[in-house]
Amino acid sequence: MNLILMGAPGAGKGTQSAKISEKYQIPAIATGDILRAERKAGTELGKEAQAYIEAGKLVPDAVVIGIIKKYMVENNCENGFILDGFPRSIPQAEALEAMGIKIDAVLSIEVPDQKIVDRMSGRRVCSCGASYHVVYNPPVKADVCDKCGEALYIRADDAAETVKNRLKTFHNETEPLKEFYSKKGLLISVEGQEEVADTTALVFKALSAVEA
Ligand code: ADP
Ligand code: ZN
Repeated sequence: MNLILMGAPGAGKGTQSAKISEKYQIPAIATGDILRAERKAGTELGKEAQAYIEAGKLVPDAVVIGIIKKYMVENNCENGFILDGFPRSIPQAEALEAMGIKIDAVLSIEVPDQKIVDRMSGRRVCSCGASYHVVYNPPVKADVCDKCGEALYIRADDAAETVKNRLKTFHNETEPLKEFYSKKGLLISVEGQEEVADTTALVFKALSAVEA
């Protein structure tokens, strides 16, 4: 299954993509995680991306398209994949089409803006890619990753002011993709729930319809 996961920043894409990845045994490719890893490694690409990320803007299309091309080749995508956070603009979606990659479904997790702001303030992440929320999805031990035992941290771009800009960017540049994919009959919308498990149940239900 070749899947695109869409949603506002903090809608729970990363959390749900981990669940889907486990169930369907397909890799998740998260452009945000890749960009942060590049930053941590101190690469040119990472440095270039950082300014955009901290301003709540999109990293230029050419940069992320280049990343996706590379990762699609490196990861074993034969049984499918989940794209988490890509495409995020119409030009990125067109580039994906130009790569000749067939998409089976585009899952959009819907969460109202007020809830996003609330969620971001409690988000804690790990460099392994795991993501938590102090109230809605807490780790077993506070501030420690369940998966790898490393210390959790707050993302720099989760600052309230940056979150506002990220939401603006989402509505202006990413949300038009809903119509783009809806016209192709690929869009499935799922309402994000308070509990992670409840959203996962809705996501799995929606995906079982795709398989059939
Ligand atoms: P979220 O979905 O919570 O905003 P991500 O980790 O997916 O978090 O993305 C963090 C930031 O990385 C984005 O705000 C943006 O600056 C950059 N980024 C990630 N994916 C893309 C993309 N496909 N195109 C442009 N910028 C991207
Ligand atoms: Zn971890």
